[in-house]
Amino acid sequence: MARYIFITGGVVSSLGKGLTSAALGALLQARGYSVRLRKLDPYLNVDPGTMSPFEHGEVFVTDDGAETDLDLGHYERFTGVAARNTDSVSSGRIYSTVLEKERRGDYLGKTIQVIPHVTNQIKDFIDIGNDEVDFMLCEIGGTVGDIEALPFFEAIRQFSQDKPRGQCVFMHLTLIPFLAAAGELKTKPTQHSVKELRSIGIAPDILVCRSEHIIPEKERDKIALFCNVRTDSVIPAYDLKSIYEAPMAYHNVGLDQAVLDAFSISDAPEPDLTRWHDVEERINNAEGCVRVAIVGKYVQLSDAYKSIAEALTHGGMANRVRVKVEWVDAEIFDDDDAATHLAGFHAILVPGGFGERGTEGKIRAAQFAREHKVPYLGICLGMQMAVVEAARNVAGIADAGSEEFDFESGKKRFTPVIYHLKEWVQGNYTVKRKQSDDKGGTMRLGAYSATLAEGSNVARIYGTTDIEERHRHRYEVDVKYREALESKGLKFSGMSPDGMLPEIVEWTDHPWFIGVQFHPELKSKPFAPSPIFADFIRAAKDMERMV
Ligand code: GLN
Repeated sequence: MARYIFITGGVVSSLGKGLTSAALGALLQARGYSVRLRKLDPYLNVDPGTMSPFEHGEVFVTDDGAETDLDLGHYERFTGVAARNTDSVSSGRIYSTVLEKERRGDYLGKTIQVIPHVTNQIKDFIDIGNDEVDFMLCEIGGTVGDIEALPFFEAIRQFSQDKPRGQCVFMHLTLIPFLAAAGELKTKPTQHSVKELRSIGIAPDILVCRSEHIIPEKERDKIALFCNVRTDSVIPAYDLKSIYEAPMAYHNVGLDQAVLDAFSISDAPEPDLTRWHDVEERINNAEGCVRVAIVGKYVQLSDAYKSIAEALTHGGMANRVRVKVEWVDAEIFDDDDAATHLAGFHAILVPGGFGERGTEGKIRAAQFAREHKVPYLGICLGMQMAVVEAARNVAGIADAGSEEFDFESGKKRFTPVIYHLKEWVQGNYTVKRKQSDDKGGTMRLGAYSATLAEGSNVARIYGTTDIEERHRHRYEVDVKYREALESKGLKFSGMSPDGMLPEIVEWTDHPWFIGVQFHPELKSKPFAPSPIFADFIRAAKDMERMV
């Protein structure tokens, strides 16, 4: 029988609901239970695929090609359970499904209303059936009281009534602020937030209270009394040095026990926390520090490259070294000398991105890394720009560029070494696209296989010649330039199984220069770092020793 845990938030946003859900998932797994995590987002976009990384942070792509909220990345990093298309939904998706059904006549002439039609659609999304997992953790985005989130709260309230007693538990995250002038922790905002929740029919079983200061027993009792929860279900959540300490920290304050108690489970196995002990040990015993420059466009908001930052941390853990990431705005050296900004780094990473802005800077960064033998990892657009750099500066195609930029500007300025892919094979069928298609959900998305060249650097790194990684892009390196580039030393060391799409390039006369068309960061976990990131940091560590 699947049990459901609903995670909501109150008082303020950004309390770390996603992280708490993920850590709780990991703790339940440590006790031998199977888990799945889902996210319900109240915004009206159909999915985050079209949202600016500046506004919403990174778009997390699943194996089955869904563009989802970055919290799904946390879920995967903590539980290792690959997220699926069905694990993320927004109001936009719910409403568009309801409206499609209405147009098809599925509702047989009924008046379509939020209750029951929208709420039913949400409940259908939440329900996982009885056999798939032991625990389904469902996080509701936003904060209690948000107008657009109301149908979700109503749906989870109904859902808990539809299920047999004791099958659903509500966990609410709040903030206990410290008022310096009074020298006191304040519980009133939490009380109000619980009151708000109860006014829409949801009585939380567990309160997770974020606080910058220790919450004394007396205050916990008070919160319990005023919010109608048990004292041992008031769980403090303090700031941590690393997010990967969350499972152990939550276990130590009794979160998993409180959840089991709320379900009246008394025969749960003791948790095996070896994995998280090991992760903590690696974090605390790192020696030395490597400096990695990320040359990108969305550097003001580090959430825009969340998975990359995490994968670098995992790479550091694998090599027992601290990784200091410095964000460099690619536009700085659009017309400035790259050396002044990039000298002294032990490695350079150019991440994915869209549009032309900042790309000349990315090309300069790739050139700097190639010429100065600095480890370089180019991801997606970062790979494409490394290929443009090679074409321009080594293979003599002076006007090499990407069709993406010509399409954007409406002018024909470049020889398109990177071109728009109009047709490709996904599993058993052929996908077709036009350059003018809708923006949402029309890229080459999700997991695709690649075949690696025997003896290449990447085959050594992965320890195999068959890999599968996740993609999110429209443009591809044109294979017709393969010979011209390989003859100059840029090896096409990973290709799609049909040999048509370049997946990986590497400079053979460089200690570590790799460009990948896919996003290896999306599958990296603290206990199973991405091989590419682990070896990239190893190379950075070698560099650090040399200088
Ligand atoms: N803009 C490029 C493309 O669509 C790269 C995308 C990316 O970096 N994710 O192919």
